[in-house]
Amino acid sequence: MIRPANSFVLAAKLEPLCPRHNKIMRYEASGLPSGTDNRPSYHCGYEGCSVRYDLVNGYFTLLGMPEEINPVEEPGGNTLKCEKHEAWLYRNRNQANEWGDEWCCGVEGCGFCVLTGTKGNRVRT
Ligand SMILES: [Zn+2]
Ligand SMILES: [Zn+2]
Repeated sequence: MIRPANSFVLAAKLEPLCPRHNKIMRYEASGLPSGTDNRPSYHCGYEGCSVRYDLVNGYFTLLGMPEEINPVEEPGGNTLKCEKHEAWLYRNRNQANEWGDEWCCGVEGCGFCVLTGTKGNRVRT
């Protein structure tokens, strides 16, 4: 039985890349700016960028009025999920290597990563 992704803890020391800017996103423990959803997330913030990442939504932006903000999936940002946690993977800063991009699970202590590129997906656990 798989637990829902929002029952896991988002690790605080990741360096996910913003899909728009390739900039490292910062951890925000306080969560989303308003509403009932106050889980932690990562936020780009580069030149006012609103892209965020968390386990449930993957890469997303927030749209709506301050009283009611809704997460909207970032187009093309979410392609892979962790096999253990069903959480969206983030693009890891470290591995812009010959195989392509490295995508990793954001659940604390997981370490699940997938390399994507011309040679196909390579799972590294
Ligand atoms: Zn950005
Ligand atoms: Zn995982």
